[in-house]
Amino acid sequence: MESKKPATSIPLKDQGGKAKIDLAQSTKSFANTFTEDLYDVIIIGGGPIGLSAAHNSSKLGKKVLLLERYNFFNQNGSSNDFVRLFRTMYKEDYLADLAKEALDLWKELQKESGEELIWMTGLLNFGDPTYEDGPEGNLMDPVNNLKRLNMPYRVLTPAQIMEEFPFKDLPDNFVGIWAQDNGCINVPSVLRTLYRLALAYGAKLVQHAQVIDMKVGENLVEVKVANGTSYKAKKCIVTAGAYTNNILSSVGVELNLKIWEMVYSYFSTNPGPKGTFFPSAWFQFQDPTGGDPAKSNLLYGFPSLPWMPPNLVRIAVDNAVNIIDDPKKRLIIPSDNDVQIAADYIEKHCVGVDNVPNFSGSCLMTNAIDNNFILDSLPSSVGPGHKNVVIFTAGWAFKFTPLLGKILTELTFDGKTPHNISNFKITRPGVLKTDFAKL
Ligand SMILES: Cc1cc2nc3c(=O)[nH]c(=O)nc-3n(C[C@H](O)[C@H](O)[C@H](O)COP(=O)(O)OP(=O)(O)OC[C@H]3O[C@@H](n4cnc5c(N)ncnc54)[C@H](O)[C@@H]3O)c2cc1C
Repeated sequence: MESKKPATSIPLKDQGGKAKIDLAQSTKSFANTFTEDLYDVIIIGGGPIGLSAAHNSSKLGKKVLLLERYNFFNQNGSSNDFVRLFRTMYKEDYLADLAKEALDLWKELQKESGEELIWMTGLLNFGDPTYEDGPEGNLMDPVNNLKRLNMPYRVLTPAQIMEEFPFKDLPDNFVGIWAQDNGCINVPSVLRTLYRLALAYGAKLVQHAQVIDMKVGENLVEVKVANGTSYKAKKCIVTAGAYTNNILSSVGVELNLKIWEMVYSYFSTNPGPKGTFFPSAWFQFQDPTGGDPAKSNLLYGFPSLPWMPPNLVRIAVDNAVNIIDDPKKRLIIPSDNDVQIAADYIEKHCVGVDNVPNFSGSCLMTNAIDNNFILDSLPSSVGPGHKNVVIFTAGWAFKFTPLLGKILTELTFDGKTPHNISNFKITRPGVLKTDFAKL
């Protein structure tokens, strides 16, 4: 289908509203107040993935309504703070392939918006080469995919790592893999860019609109928001991140989600004249001390970035001690355990970085049983209209933002996608709380 050209000014009101609504096809209406518009798609959740779906759908000329529970660009989900890593270093072939496909779409998005959204600094993975597996995979297996996809990389000794990066006292058995096709994503700019483009293509984007109920009919989906207003659409996309179960409970579906309240801290670096300089993002892979996950040695860091306060680097443990099943159980105050791991690491292994955090925060990381994405339509237990609702949640997804928005749009309007999403099915074992296939 031909893409729509962006409007030259931001529309104040959504157009149309003349479409005929076949309520007989819907389940009984629950509305106190109806808007008479029939949307092609309602998107629930205005994080990067929902905004990307809104961008992709509205660009196709679809009539799009996006409902966001809080304000746009909020700090309550998984997309707060300044930066996320774009990486191609995956041990799984299908994720490495999708990352490569995503990179092309990031380039397109940068061109379309005129914004630089990723700073391709490269990525240094280093650590114990025998580390087998964890939330970020492992150190050595991604090399097979770097070779297969012809992506340049270098292998570094501990001495070379310490010469090129401000690290000290690394164990002798450590190995480093540095690869160019990785970088730092400018989170605030991505969110605002997708918002601006979706608006320009005519999407209606509504904040402070918490969806509290959803009804799925054969030809119609109705959603109700907390102020009593109900909206109708032919299709629905749910991109509510850690909050997904709050919405799916309306249709009797519950996902087996473990939500990590991850802690991050920013630390001051020596400003110079011979200042501390991390040339790229980095990951250290090492088993937890004594096998205790609360003493994780999986750490990561980002360099100082032009869109962040100067001379600050983010260094954090890639783990969380507060693991919850509902965002309302979030503590908000960063766990001392997780802040301390980063501070201790800095004292032991970083040069020219102050180990007292400048500031810390927390963020919700949603995990399915296998750390992978859930990207599919609702299960058939929902009834004949189950394919009218497509959902995305879980996993380390920011780097795939433009690709996931495209795939969600394809699944919604074409019922299929050319991209390989076979590993993200909602019906794979352990993803649904109730395995309907076994009933
Ligand atoms: C500390 C941390 C570090 C990470 N690092 C990386 C990384 O380096 N690289 C990477 O690729 N990924 C990373 N991730 C994962 C990545 O940030 C997430 O996968 C991504 O941000 C998810 O975006 P989303 O749009 O799915 O969810 P969110 O950004 O959480 O958006 C969901 C939105 O839905 C809204 N919502 C919820 N319920 C409702 C409702 N009932 N009605 C209306 N709206 C609702 C929420 O308010 C929220 O705005 C990291 C995550 C964390 C926590």
